[in-house]
Amino acid sequence: MSYRRLLGRLAYGSRYDRVPWGQRVYVRPGERMIREAQWKWLTRRAPVLPLDDYRRLRSLGEIEEFLSCMMCGEARQQPLFEPAGETGSWRYYVVRCPSCGFLYRNPNVRPERLGDLYATGYSKFLSGKYAANRQRRYDLTMKAFSPVFDEGKERRLLDFGSGVGLFLELAERRGFEAYGVDLSPESVEQANERLSKARTYFGAPEDVPEIAAGGFDVITLWSVLAHLPRPLEDFKTFRRLLAPGGVLLILTVNARSLLLKAYGAAWSGFTKNHLMFYSSETVRTLLGRTGFAGVAFAPHYGDTIEAGTTNLAPDLVTRLRRNVELSDGGNMMRVLAFADEEAIGRWGGGPLTIHRLHA
Ligand SMILES: [Zn+2]
Repeated sequence: MSYRRLLGRLAYGSRYDRVPWGQRVYVRPGERMIREAQWKWLTRRAPVLPLDDYRRLRSLGEIEEFLSCMMCGEARQQPLFEPAGETGSWRYYVVRCPSCGFLYRNPNVRPERLGDLYATGYSKFLSGKYAANRQRRYDLTMKAFSPVFDEGKERRLLDFGSGVGLFLELAERRGFEAYGVDLSPESVEQANERLSKARTYFGAPEDVPEIAAGGFDVITLWSVLAHLPRPLEDFKTFRRLLAPGGVLLILTVNARSLLLKAYGAAWSGFTKNHLMFYSSETVRTLLGRTGFAGVAFAPHYGDTIEAGTTNLAPDLVTRLRRNVELSDGGNMMRVLAFADEEAIGRWGGGPLTIHRLHA
């Protein structure tokens, strides 16, 4: 028995042995507070370095560049983690902004070299078993923001980073007039084979006349936000592409996840191609600075909990939900951004709590 497992057994007995790792930190008594205290200790203890000192610590890859904090402009760096692939195939460095808490990879990938990450073999990763889980997750997320995505008729939708078209397939079925853009040429090809009415294009929105024309009622970013090297520029574009009353839906990994606080560099959110890691706080900064009027959040309890297929005992489900809410620490973050007052007027007053943003 490993040291860690032995400690767990001593502290909690065997009651939690069958609980999957991704849920244990949310259900073991007292663990939320322990992990939050650990995080506070870690971020207080980690050194804060001027950018020039930090540069000297790291070598720069051919497609990389050093960054200051994109959310608040702070140049100082707090080195926190060094995530790496299991076989040592990749490794990068994650820093924390000492002013606003934003987590990002530094050095980061130069935007003009972003295509290198998705050039070959990416679409393979996006089909198969992954497809069914993905589509369930899309459905659950739209349900969490009901009624905003219930009816697509006469609404124009853009899926940014549309991959092989798994979401556009659902959007089509709900009646949306749907479009997609993606940086992987082979994904775009596969998507257009899969879809009957929706169309996907290779490249940036500005490069495609049908997309650049704007007037979208909905823009979706499914697991895309963490991949953007220039989020402020992209979000200004999204804001411009939205019609009056439009909304932007984001699903991304949560930088406040209790699982990050528990597992550090081994956290599932530190995947090979992720560049930046947002919390409810830093995503508000991003939206406020790019002209959005309001935002709503839907806590993420995990797909099996929300789909009702979990094996957890009911009292543990209740505890998990409470700990996700108290810590703002679900493993994913689900965000609905409102372009303007018209959008807030249209969807406010229902079950959604909308926070107004100020630039
Ligand atoms: Zn910052």
